[in-house]
Amino acid sequence: MKRTLYNEDHEAFRVSVRGWLEREVTPRLDEFIEAKAIPRDVWIEAGKQGFLGLEIEDEYGGSQADDYRFNAVMSEELSRVSAALSSCLGIHADIVAPYLRDLCTEEQKQRWLPAFCTGELVTAIGMTEPSGGSDLAALKTTAVRDGDVWVLNGSKTFITNGYSADLVVVAARTTPGSGARGISLFGVEATMEGFSRGRKLDKVGQTESDTSELFFDNVRVPMANLIGELDRGFIHMMERLPQERLGAAVSNIAHAAGILDETLDYIKERKAFGQPVGSFQHNKFLAAELVTKIEVSQAFVDQCVLAFNEGTLTAVDAAKAKWWSAEIQNDVIDACVQLYGGYGYMNEYRVARAWRDARVTKIWAGSNEIMKELIGRDLGL
Ligand SMILES: Cc1cc2nc3c(=O)[nH]c(=O)nc-3n(C[C@H](O)[C@H](O)[C@H](O)COP(=O)(O)OP(=O)(O)OC[C@H]3O[C@@H](n4cnc5c(N)ncnc54)[C@H](O)[C@@H]3O)c2cc1C
Repeated sequence: MKRTLYNEDHEAFRVSVRGWLEREVTPRLDEFIEAKAIPRDVWIEAGKQGFLGLEIEDEYGGSQADDYRFNAVMSEELSRVSAALSSCLGIHADIVAPYLRDLCTEEQKQRWLPAFCTGELVTAIGMTEPSGGSDLAALKTTAVRDGDVWVLNGSKTFITNGYSADLVVVAARTTPGSGARGISLFGVEATMEGFSRGRKLDKVGQTESDTSELFFDNVRVPMANLIGELDRGFIHMMERLPQERLGAAVSNIAHAAGILDETLDYIKERKAFGQPVGSFQHNKFLAAELVTKIEVSQAFVDQCVLAFNEGTLTAVDAAKAKWWSAEIQNDVIDACVQLYGGYGYMNEYRVARAWRDARVTKIWAGSNEIMKELIGRDLGL
């Protein structure tokens, strides 16, 4: 089905993102996997191309696109090349960006945003802790006021860009015993004394992204690094999670659609019993189902993008888009592995890597169970 989401400006932007990926990224993917990280020169080059500051005002070096469709194009193109690259750049440019743009003071913006846009300052967001990620209100990292600083103690885990980030937006408890109402956000700079990182975590998939534990041992964070309002960090996060979930949905569908396209080519060429494997009725019907699943899901996600642009995307619709797209992505890619036969289980084939890369999307950005919890509550249940 022809999509009507994008106009010629978005398609022109897609051409430039795709060109950059083909020139600078695709030939180096094995290097990224080996390093378990996106090298800094790739960030810097992405910054030069204007890909990191889509949401940032032009006075700080961004392009202030004010149109989520550019983020979506970016996310689709990255996901088709590498789900992990999409996660790393997405955390920075699509997830952290709105926190800095909406909540930072003028002084903070001047301090952080120009380098954020050039890729010299890589960011991460630390919500999840070893004791749990779903129940954010129960987080244990503390920030205690001492004169004109906040003293942070605790740890975070599974943090995307955690190993390479220069600035981490950290959620910490500022008022003990007051649940969701006592949490605040801080900009923790990697150079601060008492801040350290664990190893790059050894993941099942998305190897080329650096995912890390972070430790805060009496980190003295200046008052000037409080992001947003004191004790309103939970609300700041809740207000921005729909955008994170929309981004996840866009990326999930694009990732699966890319692998499905490659699989359709493969089953037209690969022969068994003297005929293309795609021509067996079972496989033909399976391919028909997979294409339908992608296109029907895409229509819902595209509608969510438009609603987001209009300021009407609800947290519940974003939750539907997130869990559904994650299920479809995993179902479709699993079926693609089957259609590739034994080659589908070989790491040198993109389909095999995609299968491992996809699994996390049902877990992160709010697990699929938590998404259904939100939707169920909205039904009055
Ligand atoms: C590769 C990767 C990258 C990540 N990047 C980041 C990042 O950059 N920043 C960040 O802050 N976090 C990040 N996360 C963390 C991620 O958001 C959490 O893993 C996720 O929110 C789930 O939290 P948990 O792992 O603690 O699971 P738990 O909260 O312990 O949940 C365990 C299981 O119980 C289920 N469950 C929990 N509560 C309920 C309930 N009420 N009803 C039904 N089921 C429930 C969950 O769905 C899950 O299946 C990342 C995770 C991974 C794996």
